[in-house]
Formats: sequence, C-alpha cells, structure tokens
Amino acid sequence: MTMTDLELHIQSTPMVDTHEHLRKEIEFVGGGPDILSSLFDWYTVADLVAAGASPDSIARLTDQHNDDVRGRFLGIRSAWEACQFTGYGEGVRWIAKSLFGIEELSADEVARAAPMARALHKPGERLRLLREVANLDHVQVDDFVVEVAPDDSGPDFFLYDISWLGWTNGRVNAADVFAVTGVDVTDVASLRTAFEAAFARYAPLAIAVKTQHAYDRTLIWRARDVADVTPALQKSLRGETLSEPEALCLGDWCLGCAAELAAHHGLPIKIHTGYYAGNNRMPMDRIHASHLSPLLATYPQTRFVLMHTAYPFGGEVVALAKHFTNVYADMCWAWSIDPHGSEQFLRQYLHAAPANKLFIFGGDTAWPTASVAYAWQARRGLTRVLQTEISSGFLSEPQAIRLATRWMRDNAFACFDVARARAAAADGTPGRG
Ligand SMILES: [Zn+2]
Repeated sequence: MTMTDLELHIQSTPMVDTHEHLRKEIEFVGGGPDILSSLFDWYTVADLVAAGASPDSIARLTDQHNDDVRGRFLGIRSAWEACQFTGYGEGVRWIAKSLFGIEELSADEVARAAPMARALHKPGERLRLLREVANLDHVQVDDFVVEVAPDDSGPDFFLYDISWLGWTNGRVNAADVFAVTGVDVTDVASLRTAFEAAFARYAPLAIAVKTQHAYDRTLIWRARDVADVTPALQKSLRGETLSEPEALCLGDWCLGCAAELAAHHGLPIKIHTGYYAGNNRMPMDRIHASHLSPLLATYPQTRFVLMHTAYPFGGEVVALAKHFTNVYADMCWAWSIDPHGSEQFLRQYLHAAPANKLFIFGGDTAWPTASVAYAWQARRGLTRVLQTEISSGFLSEPQAIRLATRWMRDNAFACFDVARARAAAADGTPGRG
C-alpha cells in the first residue's frame, strides 16, 4: 500500500521526544535489558499485575539473572493474554515484531530472541535505536536529579531536566542542598539563595525543570507566606518529619521559587498531571491539572508544560491550554497509556486550543526499545487523527502536514531552548561529580 503524503511526512520527520527516563549508556551496555525486560519493562508490568499476575511471577519475569527465559515468560502468559491489546501490550507486540522478528509471543519465540536482545548491548546502540529507528530529533530526559551534566553518549541528543521533585515535596535537607548548590541553608533567605545557585549552575545546560510531585502529594498549590514557611523549613532542616500541611506549605514555596527562577532563566517547568505508573495507590482527587490554576495565574511569565494529558482528565488540559497563555499540553506517555483516548484528546485539542502549544510525543520510559514502540504508536495516532480530519473536510492535506510538523517539532523548538542546551553541552560546562 502506498503511503499518503501525510503518512510519508509523519514517518520521515525526526520527532522531538519531550520526556524520557532513559538509563545511561553505561547501564545499557553493561546491564541492558534482556529479551523479557526489553519487551515488558517497565509499564507493561503494571498491566500484568492489574490482570492478576502474582508478585512472584513478576519478580521472575524481571530477574535478569535468571536464564530460564521460557519459564519466566510462561509465568505471566495468562496475564499477558489479557493485556496484549492495551496500549502497553501493543507496544510489547511492536517491539517483538519490529526489533526481534516475533510475530506472536510464545515461550519458544522469546527464547529464540534472547541472543538478539543481548546483541544490542553495544556502545552507540542505544543512540542508534532512538535516533535512527525511532527517528527522534533529540530526547529530553528526567534522570531524577537536580544536577545536569553533558551526556557523552550523545551530547546534542540527550538533553536533561533539572528535577525539582524533592523540594516540591517539601523535603529540604541541608547536606543535600549544599551538595548540589554549594550553599549552606539555615533559613528561608539562604534556601532561596541556594535555589538561585542551582539555576545559575545548571540552567544553561538544562532543557527544562521537572516535577512529578502528584505521586506524593496533591497538585493543589497556593502562594505561601515566608512566616508560614519558616517553621516548616526549620523542622525539615532538623531532620524531623513534617506533617502533611507543613510539607505542602514548604513544597508550594519551593515550587513557586522554581517557577520564578525558571522564567528568569528561560526554562519551562514540566509538571506530571494525571495517571500514576504502578499499581494500587492512585488517589484520583490529587492528580487534576486544574489544581494548578493558582500556580499558572501567579507566574504568568513562566511556561508550564502539563504532561500526560492529565489522563483521564484530558479536558482539563485542553481548557487550561485554551485559557492560559503560559500553558502547553504535552502528550508524553499518553499514547501508550490509552492510544484510543489519546486520539480523542488530540481531536478535542485541535478543535479547541491553539495549535502552537501541543507536543505530540515522549516515551517516558527507561529503555530505548520501548521508546521505539511508543514513538511508532504516537506517529500512528497522529496520522489517524489528521487523516480523519482530512476525510471529514476539516483540513486540507497541506494543513494537516503543517500541523504534524508543529506538533512533532516546531512547537517544542519554540518552547524549549534546544540550541542553548546543545551549545552548553558541546562546551562541556558543569560536570556532575
Ligand atoms: Zn516520567
């Protein structure tokens, strides 16, 4: 079947990947994913658990030291049969087929492919999978730390976020702050100085600031007085556990500082909204993107990137991007969570919010094999949505192609200072110890 101009364009355009947690080159080469981890790490495991896979079978599935690949697969086979049609399951099937030539997963097939997975653990292969196979322009990585350093395995390709997670959770430890900023924290003023030092040191190399505090606390935010923050900070510095209201107070203040400093340094702030990875702990009332409205209104100069379509509350993200000049919608991770729902989200967004504030893809995963599959899913979803709009007469094909370029690349390049981060990485500025 010949491809339409739209399909050809979407397949051949290098896509920006706004969000990953990719493990480093040294981990990939030294202890990269075996065949079962390549297929099932890390999101699909949660679907298997939801389908009833036992903790023991999951532990065996993900135990790379166990050479019994057949037995490890057979332990989750019935759960796999229940999950194979989910977004994650579809990703598994795409990895199996496109990278290992497996048409249908079976114990024999995964055992046959085991050496092929091992053969990928070579220097440069991680970059090749992402740049050439997934056809990505660059990836933006949250490696869970404040510090940002150039990544020698692809300095212009692997760009990093400054993680603001711990501080947004209201966890301020003087030794940790000193280690990353060189500033001694004794009070609110010196904590602010430390945050300024963190930005001065890492912002030039960074691509964004990132926090996923919705996993630990509510997204509800309000402006805090220094008088209220002080006792919470002092308690935290003494190493005492904060009450929930104290942690929220200190965390809100820390996030407010980041919002202000990010604007000053030209960095967007990415915030996890919506669905939780893992199992059996998601409080649905914490995760609404709409909880962030006061933050968005308080810092109009800061660009806020709301991640994951706040699944399943996508309409809130559409409304916020439509209403706030400083809000961007990032569909990272959305396609693998719910491919069909993501198509609906994209159509809703197209017909409601400005086209210059949406990013189409981020894999949000640890291994490049999964990123390959999720990039394929995103391209397929994008193609279907735009093709549907062409068929309905709403878009011409040239208009659809222009939208695809925006969502895959141009919007990200307008929001994130990719050139600055690349230049700083090429300079090899600050190092992480
Ligand atoms: Zn993530």
